[in-house]
Amino acid sequence: MALCRAACDQRGHTAEVIATRTPEEATETARQAHESGAAAIFGCGGDGTLSSILQGLPVGSSTALGAVPLGTANVWAYETNLPMTPMAAISSQLAALEGREGSSIWIDTGRVWSTNADGSVASQRFLLMASWGLDAAAVNGIAGSDRRRGMKRMLGEPAYFLSAVQEAIGRKAWPIAFSLDGAPPRTVEVGLMTVGNTRMLGTWLEVNPKATVVDGELDLLMFKGAPWRALALSPFARHGWLPHGPGVSNHRFRRLEMTPLKETPPMQIDGEIGPATAYAIDIEPQALKALCPVPTSEVLGG
Ligand SMILES: [Mg+2]
Repeated sequence: MALCRAACDQRGHTAEVIATRTPEEATETARQAHESGAAAIFGCGGDGTLSSILQGLPVGSSTALGAVPLGTANVWAYETNLPMTPMAAISSQLAALEGREGSSIWIDTGRVWSTNADGSVASQRFLLMASWGLDAAAVNGIAGSDRRRGMKRMLGEPAYFLSAVQEAIGRKAWPIAFSLDGAPPRTVEVGLMTVGNTRMLGTWLEVNPKATVVDGELDLLMFKGAPWRALALSPFARHGWLPHGPGVSNHRFRRLEMTPLKETPPMQIDGEIGPATAYAIDIEPQALKALCPVPTSEVLGG
């Protein structure tokens, strides 16, 4: 914390350092930062911390999002080529804030729509990716098991892959109907469908190699058939080499609607468990100001 303040002081910015204990506190802190007109808010942690902050910033807020990568995977920092040491990350993003190196860029965000128990509508924004199926089952598997949580602490990101292997065993595909941009619904049995604002699922799998956060669209990758098929093909996504064919398809859209036809597939949003009642995903074009010291990064459209 002292480091964060020192980095800002060095550059002549006034920074308030706030320790948050829960995602809700991080969301509330972001709301206050926006209301007080702060130039930027930095999430010190992983992608989950950035996600909590995003929930507190209204669409079009002039408070820019910065990241100090201290989490398990740090996908946003990885995607945007931020320095991975805290001091360097802060300095470079302050340079972007001042327009000396890179700049703050208006980027798209995604929004997941779901229903509450009383029938009212709820929504949640995302920065990176939302997905239904195997990957979400792996996230759920870690959250629901002390042993797998221990594995995550010990191994970091590979723990998600091991959890996915365990979840794929004997699991059938989820039959769903889906519609893109108001087109007639199609039915399909999916093992995994990822909706990416960004390219990477974790820092290992480049599932949407052509996705950018500035094109006003989201990228859907769909694996048909049992979840183990998605798992077996996943190594090909290591460097964006996923073969596309009958079982794997890509689509670009602005709004997706999904109806489960039997069991509801599990969902994850930016690496955390998502609502079981999610029924639609929208793009919010140019909805978030982000500090981007390396605007040539592919995901930024550079
Ligand atoms: Mg896009």
